[in-house]
Amino acid sequence: MPAATKPLPESVLISEPCLQKRIRELGTQILADYENQELILLGVLRGSVLFFADLSRAIFGAQLEKPSREVQVRFEFVQLTSYNNNTQPSAVELIHGGSDYLEHQNILIVEDIIDTGQTLKLLYEHLRTLNPKTVKVCTLLDKPSKRRVPVTIDYIGFEVPDAFVVGYGLDYAQQYRNLPYIALLEST
Ligand code: 5GP
Repeated sequence: MPAATKPLPESVLISEPCLQKRIRELGTQILADYENQELILLGVLRGSVLFFADLSRAIFGAQLEKPSREVQVRFEFVQLTSYNNNTQPSAVELIHGGSDYLEHQNILIVEDIIDTGQTLKLLYEHLRTLNPKTVKVCTLLDKPSKRRVPVTIDYIGFEVPDAFVVGYGLDYAQQYRNLPYIALLEST
């Protein structure tokens, strides 16, 4: 992670129109794949919130264009926590709780970015214990060059290079989450 940083305007990596266009495509694809089924969008807090909101509306927008297709969408969220000063998450906290609310459901994990893959692996293994019908993964960004554990990703917005990115939900020290685009953090 860079020491002193500031996202400069010229450091925009993925512009707002480009993000929104791709999210609309993902919405269309997800609608087609889950046609006439129930789907739980499972957002991973906090980085995925903007993507989650736009993706869920994109699924609805795709439905308006193809009224014969319908997906019943439910929102749920998880938060990953780490203990003992570990930088890697070590536990999954389901925000809603309840022992069986994911049982026999189609779950689509909505992630901001997949880097080493460790967060996703932990979450995936946890969800499998809850006896869901299906578990798939949709990430806005994928950084495959940093992968340490193999993971399967079903929907990818964009592949990004090995650099630290912020914006559109992604933070650096809790800043920059409200940028409407993805930017590279430049060292100053
Ligand atoms: P993984 O477990 O795949 O290594 O990491 C996933 C998490 O690390 C993401 O959900 C995100 O919180 C954080 N992360 C990984 N790469 C970046 C990055 O380039 N920028 C930001 N802001 N967070 C990142």
